[in-house]
Amino acid sequence: MTGQQVVLILGGTSDARDLAGRLDGRPGLRAVSSLAGRTREPVLPVGESRVGGFGGIPGLTTWLRDHRVAAVVDATHPFAARISANAVAACAGTGIPLLRLQRPGWTPREGDDWREAASAEEAARLLPSVGRRVFLTTGRMETAPYAGLDDLWFLLRSVEPPEDAVPANLEVLLARGPFTVADEIALMRRHAVDVVVTKDSGGTQTAAKLDAARELGLPVVMITRPAVGAGPRVESAAEAADWVVATVRRQAGDPAR
Ligand code: NAP
Repeated sequence: MTGQQVVLILGGTSDARDLAGRLDGRPGLRAVSSLAGRTREPVLPVGESRVGGFGGIPGLTTWLRDHRVAAVVDATHPFAARISANAVAACAGTGIPLLRLQRPGWTPREGDDWREAASAEEAARLLPSVGRRVFLTTGRMETAPYAGLDDLWFLLRSVEPPEDAVPANLEVLLARGPFTVADEIALMRRHAVDVVVTKDSGGTQTAAKLDAARELGLPVVMITRPAVGAGPRVESAAEAADWVVATVRRQAGDPAR
């Protein structure tokens, strides 16, 4: 093999940054992390990165071809459904191997009171029958479904301020995790929260709110994950790094390298 094999990491998650760190400096391999560019001050991965959308399936396909990409790891957030679907289509069209890296979802424990919702819209429909003072932790991009719930009060916690329609009775708390259970309990008590809304993001960074809700006996409206495409899938950055190394070796036709 001559030159370096390019691996595209579709990122924006801590797992993606972990993977970029594991691949950085590997001989014969050039990992490029891709970020959507949503946050003004993103936590950048080590190594090479690019920012911004590709322009749908055609744009991603062109990018993969132009950069002679040998393998793609889709390490985007479990709820970033569009880019994941685009990756499936572009990789199928170009014959480039694709791996989905997705951390496991959360599972309820003894004492949890979770109400599942398939979407933010369904969560909004459920809420009035569950509580009155809502801790909304689903991000600034998805506030519109809750606008119009004028009888409820919302504490929205997000990294950056919301830009979309918001509920009338809203307080915004700008913060980036991880958070501790003690701080989450104190926050929920201070605001007399009686229901928590979250996506099933999984992982440890933002799980403290679930422990806090259990301790306080509060219900949680849990928005379930969109379906994932078929194809290889792993749950950790370590497994993804092993897949990349094996796949790139196979592509280079040199199993001993
Ligand atoms: P999305 O709805 O699946 O994607 C919308 C569009 O944004 C895509 O069609 C693509 O534009 C662009 N895009 C998304 N991720 C990209 C990436 N890693 N690199 C380049 N372009 C990307 O995704 P989203 O929910 O807006 O999430 C955007 C990013 O934020 C993702 O990278 C995700 O990992 C991260 N994130 C999302 C959430 C969440 O709850 N959704 C939470 C934390 C972090 P083009 O079609 O033009 O290529």
